[in-house]
Amino acid sequence: MSQTNRRTFLIQVAAAGTALATSQGHAAPVMVDPKDPQAIGLGYATDTAKVDAKKFPKHNKDQKCVNCALYLGKPADASGGCPLFGTKHVTPGGWCSAWAKKA
Ligand code: SF4
Repeated sequence: MSQTNRRTFLIQVAAAGTALATSQGHAAPVMVDPKDPQAIGLGYATDTAKVDAKKFPKHNKDQKCVNCALYLGKPADASGGCPLFGTKHVTPGGWCSAWAKKA
């Protein structure tokens, strides 16, 4: 391998490593699966409009993760964390039975 080819190769390897590190730094969050046992236990739904009204009579469609006191995302975020689900994210329009109005 000539000196120029070796230098080019090393630059390409470094660039690939940086790209990989960057993509890992912005990896999409793992979303809560509504079929997870804990999600089922809390009645979590990814869309508040699809919550079973018979099972949760106190629920109303204005209650969403985005206006819940526990929601860790910002209103414009595509998803946000919730302490009830560890590092996994919930949808802003989701809901669960632990919903509490954000102050
Ligand atoms: S506690 Fe709040 S933010 Fe978390 S899943 Fe339930 S409604 Fe959404």
